[in-house]
Amino acid sequence: MKYREAWQKAAGLLEDSGLEEARLEAEILLRHTLGISRVQLHLELERELHPDKEAAYFQTLKRRLEGEPSAYITGAKEFYGRAFQVDKRVLIPRPETEHLIEKALRIARSYESPYIADIGTGSGAIAITLALELKDAYVYATDISAEALEVARNNAAEYRLEKRLMFYRGDLLESLPEMVDILMANLPYVPTAEAGLLKGEPVSALDGGADGLDIYRRLIPVLPGKLRPGGTALLEIGIHQSEVLANYIKEYLPQAAVEISPDYAGIPRVAG
Ligand code: GLN
Repeated sequence: MKYREAWQKAAGLLEDSGLEEARLEAEILLRHTLGISRVQLHLELERELHPDKEAAYFQTLKRRLEGEPSAYITGAKEFYGRAFQVDKRVLIPRPETEHLIEKALRIARSYESPYIADIGTGSGAIAITLALELKDAYVYATDISAEALEVARNNAAEYRLEKRLMFYRGDLLESLPEMVDILMANLPYVPTAEAGLLKGEPVSALDGGADGLDIYRRLIPVLPGKLRPGGTALLEIGIHQSEVLANYIKEYLPQAAVEISPDYAGIPRVAG
């Protein structure tokens, strides 16, 4: 069987199981099995797949068909153009979260040396991306999960960020050592009933209570204590949650000017 045929067959299997990006996932798993780049794969499509590799490839497909995400099988996920190590201890970074990065970068431009926090850092993707994009920034990352912090620290070590990125274990803001200018949070916001249905990833990184906003409701009232005057909190929430969260922010942080962007992120601007 040639590379091309194996890829096609795999894509067909994944498609039949209802996966949306069947071709792409079949490619990612094939490249992982062969240990080759995208370009290499495209140059070598007519090569014969060694039977051992074929068996290994269809073994990874079996795992995928049983519900394991491709990123856990390959151990890596790309976020904002960089590779991050992931495994079942952390949520897999989502492309939607790159919007949050874009917004943070825009805001950070008005600071010479911004202090940034990433709350519930998981794999560290947000914190590490911002530390790499903003060479003068100081970044604090927190997570309640010691296991997640291990993954995040490994990722930070890959990028040699020991000096400008520090990790703290703790619930929400409790371990944050000082006030920051920009506070990022992609906390669990999936309603409990749906979180149980998402297979593979840690429920603790997804489950946000009955309507998904329990954890943000705990975060909002304590925000002013950790945001410098004029600072900004960038929070990722689900698409139908912005109104509820905006009302909550109005109630608990009446002096904050709340901006809700149409997609994923609710942005409370906390003025002093
Ligand atoms: N965006 C993720 C999802 O829809 C949820 C991430 C989160 O809860 N922070 O699966």
